[in-house]
Amino acid sequence: MIYLVESFYSFQGEGKYAGTPSIFIRLGGCNLKCEGFQSTAISPIDGKKLKGCDSIRAVNRKHFSFLWEKITSPSALIAKIENLIPKNCKPDIVVTGGEPLLYYKERELIETLKYFLTKKHKITIETNATIFVNFKKYPLYKDIVFAMSVKLSNSGESYEKRVNKKAIDSIIKNTKDSFFKFVLDKELISSKKAEREIEDIIISYNNPTVFCMPMGSNAKEVEKNAPAVAEFCIKKCYFYMDRLHIRLWNNEEKR
Ligand code: SF4
Repeated sequence: MIYLVESFYSFQGEGKYAGTPSIFIRLGGCNLKCEGFQSTAISPIDGKKLKGCDSIRAVNRKHFSFLWEKITSPSALIAKIENLIPKNCKPDIVVTGGEPLLYYKERELIETLKYFLTKKHKITIETNATIFVNFKKYPLYKDIVFAMSVKLSNSGESYEKRVNKKAIDSIIKNTKDSFFKFVLDKELISSKKAEREIEDIIISYNNPTVFCMPMGSNAKEVEKNAPAVAEFCIKKCYFYMDRLHIRLWNNEEKR
């Protein structure tokens, strides 16, 4: 069984495949909270102000899970995706969250991924890369792109919770396509923590693909952090990555 928060057609706003027409499947639940990202939302249950990341409705089970749909068969998820695919278009499929790898052993997810891989859709899983995937037992994940958004100290999570080098290593060694994407803010860059923390995570890899994007859940916050992130990327020879969906549509849902 998996929990589906929302599904929609848009384009990828971040990372290596930014700009690509994509169907997004957002799954509910996460093993982190990332309150350091300081996004806020009003609880639909008690009206209280909640802190978290910009996907808070997919993370905060207590206040939002009544909006999550229980998916108990692969055919239900496949039908939802197929209904979203425009005519004459082969969009990417992006599985995001929350943390979608919480469900990596679930039949509903596995059969859906197999179905769309067979139909030659490119599939990306957007993960915080803290969950170890058993690629031997579940080889289909070798054919999936892993966008690893490993969290840094600005997420507010402890190092032990946010960095699992064994999980990262397994993704890099087993998949044909994976990349890092880090969320940076001005303060993390000026304190030199961004540099140190990223190097600690990528040090074992030969020329890994590293994207850095500005922190912010709305256009104003992204704007504030973007110039420092761009300068940092130039200095470190990393890829600068904007957040196109936020620039275009601010913090609208299903974008
Ligand atoms: S890992 Fe991602 S989805 Fe989970 S709390 Fe952190 S930013 Fe949100």
